[in-house]
Amino acid sequence: MPHMIPEIVKDRFVCVEGPMGTDYIPIDVWAKQEVKKVLDSIAREQVEDTFTKWMKDYTENSEAWSLSLFHGWGARLSAPGYLDCTEWSVHDSEKDARKYIETFHEVCSFCGEDIDAEIHYCVCGKEYLTD
Ligand SMILES: [Zn+2]
Repeated sequence: MPHMIPEIVKDRFVCVEGPMGTDYIPIDVWAKQEVKKVLDSIAREQVEDTFTKWMKDYTENSEAWSLSLFHGWGARLSAPGYLDCTEWSVHDSEKDARKYIETFHEVCSFCGEDIDAEIHYCVCGKEYLTD
């Protein structure tokens, strides 16, 4: 079994734009009551305070230029039982999220096995989405 396996979730993400680029934080990192406060402060555009209080631990960015809410399909690789994981990348559809995993990480978006470019199917039986 691969060390890192794909994780694909439909969720709301907070999109943080800052000096290190764009980061997505899945909203479920916060408890339910915290989510309300986070959404409320994004709506009020209290960028700096909100970032410092809720988000700085979840992003490489040391400051936020803008915060916004994004509904979509998040994709990343993570190692079960370890803290290792890649950054979230967020897409409009599940198919786009899976294509991203296959294209960017070059592994099957279902099981995480390396993609064999010679054949169209993974060892897990799934057909690759990319050519
Ligand atoms: Zn597979």
